[in-house]
Order: sequence, then structure tokens, then C-alpha cells
Amino acid sequence: MQLTGLHHVTAITARAEQNLDFYTQVLGLRLVKKTVNQDDVSAYHLFYADKFGSPGTDLTFFDWPNTPPNQNGAGSIARVMLRAPGPDALRFWEERLTRAGVPHSGLLTGSGPARLRFSDPEGLELELVDDGGAPGGTPWEGSPVPPEVGLTGLHAVHLMVRDLDRTARVLTDVLGFQLEREVSEPGDPARTITVFTTAGGGPGTEVHVEASPDLPISRLGHGGVHHVAFRTPDAGEQLEWRDRIAASGLRVTDVIDRFYFKSIYFRIPGGMLFEIATDGPGFAADEDPERLGEKLALPPFLEPHRDTIEAGLRPL
Ligand code: ZN
Repeated sequence: MQLTGLHHVTAITARAEQNLDFYTQVLGLRLVKKTVNQDDVSAYHLFYADKFGSPGTDLTFFDWPNTPPNQNGAGSIARVMLRAPGPDALRFWEERLTRAGVPHSGLLTGSGPARLRFSDPEGLELELVDDGGAPGGTPWEGSPVPPEVGLTGLHAVHLMVRDLDRTARVLTDVLGFQLEREVSEPGDPARTITVFTTAGGGPGTEVHVEASPDLPISRLGHGGVHHVAFRTPDAGEQLEWRDRIAASGLRVTDVIDRFYFKSIYFRIPGGMLFEIATDGPGFAADEDPERLGEKLALPPFLEPHRDTIEAGLRPL
């Protein structure tokens, strides 16, 4: 039994309108679902992904306007890496970000594939990584970005912890990751990052862990990542994962039916919130695949309360 890669990353925005504009108009992702946070229906939950909303391509946001700015530090999921399909695509993105007025690092080369770093308008750290054109998500042809250079999904997340060993042990002994390699930060060789992979490695399977005893305390806020989810093919394996995580001594939730997938949640040593989510049923469960994200979607248990929920949301 293996986790088959990243499923989605959920972050926090305090400015949903600007967030929607950046992820759809600048990064060219498709808004595949506009729904509410199932635990706080006064907040939008926006899902950006590939054309089909495939697992492994979703970057999602809770809209929490009153949160303070995020500060990365010990316990943060500090950066999200996304896949660009090959070196030409990465050069396209360098130019596109420049034209859009988004400050960026320029192409970073050195150990590993070429990368491009920047932040979203609220400071969420993002990195595009040349994935060599490996199979991935399907860019949406309705996007302003030409599909041949469109982003093809999640590549990795970057965790920051004070103590590598405790986090590493859970990744390897409980969650089945392999320690694959160590790399250093571009321009900062003293900062070492340990790369863990699942399912044999490759694009979309990596967790990068940066450890330093001197990291400041983190504060989760807008522009920060709330949790990362990993893929499991079905509900049967998810229950086995639940048993394994509970047996390791970590506290794990019951299976929660999110309607578009089923989820379990647990916090790993170091403080980061992890989720394991099933691949299905997916975002076409309640909408025509051609019209994903066009109106407010609610799971069946919230549908009877649609009028009240819509009255509590500003139009978006
Ligand atoms: Zn999630």
C-alpha cells in the first residue's frame, strides 16, 4: 500500500476576488469548484485545478478575510511547488510573470530541475518546477495560458521543522515515504533540504523538509498553507491508513465524507496538518464537466440550507 502522490494543497486567502483573478488569469488554472468550507459555511472554498479537477492538480483556498498575514516558521508548509511541462514552458512562465508584474527569482538552476520562484498577491510562496514533460494533469483550453505550456499539477510541498528526525520518522515509518536525496537552497548552501518521495518518486510525489533548530514560531494566516493532502486510490486503503496512523500513536480523525472525496486528517510531529484523501468521486459528481465552478456548488447535506448560505456570502 502506497500513497500515490499529492492530492491537493489548501491555503488561506483574505482577498478571494484577487485570489480568483491571480490563479485563473495569471496562472491559468481552472476554477473547478466554488463551494463553501464545510466546517464554516460563511467562507468560500475555492478549488483551482486542471481541466478535469484531477487529484494531484488542486490548489484550494479558504476565504477567511479576517486572518492576519501568514508567517512561515517551524511547523509551516512553507512553499508549494507546481509543475511546468518542460524547459520551454518554464521560460514562457518567466516571461509571463514579468509581463504580469509579478516579481520572481529568474530561472534557478543547479542541483535538480530548473525552477522559478515567486509569491501570490498575499505572499504565498510558489515555485514552478520543470517536470521534463512527464505525464500529469490536463491544462484547460479555456484558460488564458496556451495549453501546451499550462501548469500540470502539484509537484511538491516544502515543510519547515526544528527537528528533522521526528518528522522524517513519520514520513518514512508510518506514511511509507523514502528518503531520496538532500539538496541545498539556491544561493544558500547552508540551508539543507531533505527530499522524501512516495510511489517511486517523480513529479507530484515529493515532500521537501527543511530543518533548523533556529526557526521562528510560525503563524498561520492569509498567504499561508493550511494543510496538504495525499492520494489514496479508494476508501478501503484509506481505512487501512487510518489504522496504521492510529497505531503509530498519532491522533487521526474519523473518515469525513467531503462529497468530492473522503478525507482523514492528522497532525505530524513538527506541527503540520496532513490529510489523506481518496481519488474519487471527484468534482464532476455534482456538475457538468463543461461547467465546473460556474455556480456555487453545495454537497447534498448543505443543499437544503442553500438560501441561508448564499445570503451569508458576497457574490464572487
Ligand atoms: Zn483538504
